[in-house]
Amino acid sequence: MKLNFDSKIADNYKNQSQRMRVLTEDWVFNEIFCPNCGSLKINKYANNKPVADFYCNKCLEEFELKSKKGKIGKKVSAGAYSKMIERINSITKPNFFFMGYLKTLYVNDFFVIPKHFFISEIIEKRNPLSKNAIRAGWIGSNILFSRIPKAGQIFYVENGKEIPKNKILEKWQKTVFLKDIKEVNAKGWILDIMNCIDSLNKKEFSLQDIYDFESDLQSIHKDNKNIKPKIRQQLQFLRDKGYLEFLDRGKYKLI
Ligand SMILES: [Zn+2]
Repeated sequence: MKLNFDSKIADNYKNQSQRMRVLTEDWVFNEIFCPNCGSLKINKYANNKPVADFYCNKCLEEFELKSKKGKIGKKVSAGAYSKMIERINSITKPNFFFMGYLKTLYVNDFFVIPKHFFISEIIEKRNPLSKNAIRAGWIGSNILFSRIPKAGQIFYVENGKEIPKNKILEKWQKTVFLKDIKEVNAKGWILDIMNCIDSLNKKEFSLQDIYDFESDLQSIHKDNKNIKPKIRQQLQFLRDKGYLEFLDRGKYKLI
């Protein structure tokens, strides 16, 4: 994989944001394989197609690219809030590619977040633009990476270092079971528990470690009166899907 952009293809563009769009899209088109089926070629939709930027013509997965200059950081802006929420709740939502590039025109970070990790909780609503702004009252949004489990952030390039293709494909397959969870609340619970496990930052953990998040989970799921049984149910589900292993009584291991 070549990590630098082919800068001469944008020689005819004067506008900086148009220039960067051409360069980043060209790089994805040439360097990125489909994370779902491994096909070496993903195709570009015609510009301004509202659905997405790229698609795989083998498995038909769709991808939208969001890129920014510099480190990718904890969040990325995602356009109008109402549009973003509408897209997340639609059945045609795409997967998202995220890119952070350096001013030397090298890709520093590139990852995909599968669409089944997108729930409205990961979208932050920004304050409306002030009445003096050109688009007064407009409400933007951010995608918060901190709300997405690590299993849902699949790097191709991490801090300038390439990740092997087999690792990327494996990581994608590991959480495809989330596609089948259609109900929003059920999806929220699973992702919350995956986030709790992530924040422990260890491979083996106990049931008590997760129970320690009881009050945090209660504040998210205010109507639920049975947080502990709900935690156990999610852990069993994650075990059944091959995400966790049960060791001894009350001991778990990430696979
Ligand atoms: Zn594919």
